[in-house]
Amino acid sequence: MKKGHINVQTENIFPIIKKFLYSDHEIFLRELVSNAVDASQKLRVLAKNGEYDKEIDNIKVEILLDKEAGTLTVRDYGVGMTAEEIDKYINQIAFSGAEEFVQKYKDSDNKESIIGHFGLGFYSAFMVADKVEINTLARYEDAEPVQWKSDGTTEYTIQEVDKSQRGTDIVLHMNDDSKEFLEENRIRGILDKYCKFLPIPVIFGTRTIEEDDPSGEKDDEGNVKKISKEVPDQVNNTTPPWTIMPSELKDEDYKNFYGELYPGTFEEPLFHIHLNVDYPFNLTGILYFPKIKENVEVQRNKIQLYSNQVFITDNVEEIVPEFLTLLHGVIDSPDIPLNVSRSYLQSDSNVKKISSHITKKVADKLRKMFNNDREDFEKKWKDLRIFSEYGMLSDDKFAEKSKAFHLVQDTDGDFHTVEEFKEKVGKTQTDKDDKTIFLYTNDKEEQYSFVEAANDRGYKVLELQGPLIPHWIQKMETTFDNVSFARVDADTLDNLIKKDEEIPSKLSEEEQESLKPLFENVVDKEKFKIQFESMSESEAPIVVTQPEFIRRMQEQQKMGGAGFMGAFPETYNLVVNSNHPKVSEILKAEESAKENKAKQLTDLAMLAQGMLKGEALTKFVNRSIELV
Ligand code: ADP
Ligand code: MG
Repeated sequence: MKKGHINVQTENIFPIIKKFLYSDHEIFLRELVSNAVDASQKLRVLAKNGEYDKEIDNIKVEILLDKEAGTLTVRDYGVGMTAEEIDKYINQIAFSGAEEFVQKYKDSDNKESIIGHFGLGFYSAFMVADKVEINTLARYEDAEPVQWKSDGTTEYTIQEVDKSQRGTDIVLHMNDDSKEFLEENRIRGILDKYCKFLPIPVIFGTRTIEEDDPSGEKDDEGNVKKISKEVPDQVNNTTPPWTIMPSELKDEDYKNFYGELYPGTFEEPLFHIHLNVDYPFNLTGILYFPKIKENVEVQRNKIQLYSNQVFITDNVEEIVPEFLTLLHGVIDSPDIPLNVSRSYLQSDSNVKKISSHITKKVADKLRKMFNNDREDFEKKWKDLRIFSEYGMLSDDKFAEKSKAFHLVQDTDGDFHTVEEFKEKVGKTQTDKDDKTIFLYTNDKEEQYSFVEAANDRGYKVLELQGPLIPHWIQKMETTFDNVSFARVDADTLDNLIKKDEEIPSKLSEEEQESLKPLFENVVDKEKFKIQFESMSESEAPIVVTQPEFIRRMQEQQKMGGAGFMGAFPETYNLVVNSNHPKVSEILKAEESAKENKAKQLTDLAMLAQGMLKGEALTKFVNRSIELV
């Protein structure tokens, strides 16, 4: 037996491992299983290169629990280690940066992944065990099996041991605070999280299957009897679809994998993107477009990040642009520096490249779908729209590309790209200053009369609704030259799309002045501004509008974005059509009837805006009955 010192320059590295890593201690299993997988894969490579010629059929990793002995063992049948190799790879921990580790560790918010970075993978075992054994038999013809043991001080022993199977057992004698890791369910949970798609079979316990009775004995109905049988339970799928060439996969495979990633989801994704990059970095993965629901937040952060099929995190905010965190699926890259702090990740040039690559891929996919089958794309658009709006608002490159496929729908149900719509409404909706006015409604029912009036003039009205629309509109107005958006009820149509031709007013200035107080008397003067407009006779006698500017300000204020002090006042215009015969009639009416007439017309305008409520509505109804 040989005794020695683990070569760490900073003696107190163990206390640090034990103390500071404590909150993330479950990752010890990921580290040990990863090492076992590495050892197995190394052997496969050797065999493939002809440097190892014995059987390698039983390559697998086993997790063994012994509650009575208080141990958990990770067993592999991989390359194993000689005493010299243990000395080199385990004892001489390359703690060149031990000092640096301690420093970085203190103020890192990403403690768990730092371990691997400093080659502490194996030593993470000491977070949960007060004694660790390595029993190993190396792959060489005349190798002697050896045992390494340490009790979490910097001292270790190394000695001969009985072991006839090639490979390594890492035996953890769990410490008192870590008894939870002797529970089968706990271990199963950890394996399910980190090891679900490892490339080597990982076996934990057994499961029961039903099998035909080998004796062939039949039951009363003539069917061969079944017997229950215990078989080793493999916890992982060694060849998840992202490791397979897209050409070898069917749609079905992608759908099944979605179910495998998110057990318990019944919703099917809209479509997927298979990522496969090997230059200038390695990246594979499958991203799914979910059907985006009202509550965007619940669908966020479902992308899982892997490194060579080892699960790392489902927090990928720093790796993909924010709007892409709405997507689901898997990204696997050995090139993403997983083991450094968040702030470092954000400035890493590889990460930036990955991020812009994914954005490009996603935009390209959408454009392809749009070009290949527009009808189908339009059907899916309802579920894609918010995503695309989000992308346009948060990523300029995406915004540029999305011009080719981002759709708007008009009240007739037809879809257009913004360019197409501009073309379509052409001269009709272009004002005297050469601006094309995109009329829109955010509620077809509520703004029905306005939409109708616009359609009657041959104007097209877009349906735009959702939380991002105010921002999106602003973005469009700055992106496209000479395009301006206006809600149909923001003003009279004559004012929304100002043409050259002026309609002469039937009422003189004086007549207007004499009518004004009448209307002021029937509305709240603080809220409504009376305004005379010479519109065509076919327009309503009175319209209530809310100027686009004021509404946008109010919307921004609601979202907390406008930066005003105090509330932005709620104001409307009461626009009186000075060419409407009903308005001239008021002038001619008897003095006592004038106000009632003004009130009736005003209420009708309020009604069209859905603003007539409560007492005012009842009074209106009663007045109307009398009029009949
Ligand atoms: P890393 O895996 O990043 O190299 P670890 O601390 O996890 O760091 O492991 C240190 C080294 O110990 C490995 O590189 C490998 O050479 C050796 N090792 C650990 N576990 C095993 C194992 N199960 N079989 C063979 N070698 C192993
Ligand atoms: Mg390791």
